[in-house]
Amino acid sequence: MRIARFTTGGDPRFALVEDNTLVVISGDPLYMPVQPTGERVPLDRDDLRLLAPVIPRSKVVGVGRNYADHAREMGNEVPATPMLFLKPNTAVIGPDDPIVLPTWSEEVHVEAELAVVIGKVTRNVPAERALVHVYGFTVANDVTARDVQRAEQLWTRAKGFDGSCPLGPWIVPGLDVDDLRVTARVNGATRQDGRTSDMVHGVAELVAFASEVFTLLPGDVILTGTPAGVGEVVHGDVVECEVEDIGVLRNPVIRR
Ligand code: MG
Repeated sequence: MRIARFTTGGDPRFALVEDNTLVVISGDPLYMPVQPTGERVPLDRDDLRLLAPVIPRSKVVGVGRNYADHAREMGNEVPATPMLFLKPNTAVIGPDDPIVLPTWSEEVHVEAELAVVIGKVTRNVPAERALVHVYGFTVANDVTARDVQRAEQLWTRAKGFDGSCPLGPWIVPGLDVDDLRVTARVNGATRQDGRTSDMVHGVAELVAFASEVFTLLPGDVILTGTPAGVGEVVHGDVVECEVEDIGVLRNPVIRR
């Protein structure tokens, strides 16, 4: 099952993605059972726009240095416990939305990541039961102002700006994410090519760990870290982040 959020000009709606068709469902599937309305919308319809499949209700939780080869390329050690940071939900944009480079950064990097969408109120859940609290998975791009990240101790500005969290193209519930390929392409050239099996801390462990810090709400999102190969993007680039069995999240990059 793939669950998309979309608009054809009016309020956002949800749909199941079946081949090249959206099967529209009533309400928000995070909070109510999936119920098709009978309406079907072709995916290639001119006025159709896919939106971020979820707007995190309270937060996006990021995890730093969760792939050893990425920690190494940045000259860092792998932390003993997951290194959490937050992105505000105002950072979220959807498929094909432009990543607008902030005026105050000269070096913005992209990071392809598996994203976990929380499905239930989650507090102090043990890792053995953590996956029950997961609604599904999507693709994220943890866009980072690398020069600012290097210059400042806190990552709030470097990773929290508007547009720094593209999500999409849809949510896949019930996926086995233990060993999926994670790639990033810029203008068609592969920059990152890793596997979720190389994560230092796996999904269940991350959900459990985060839930000991703050209550996770339905619709909150956890970014699970990025493999090696991060690099700069500039005005005019097109970034595609892909997680196997989920899909491709594509965003153009612009500088205003
Ligand atoms: Mg990251």
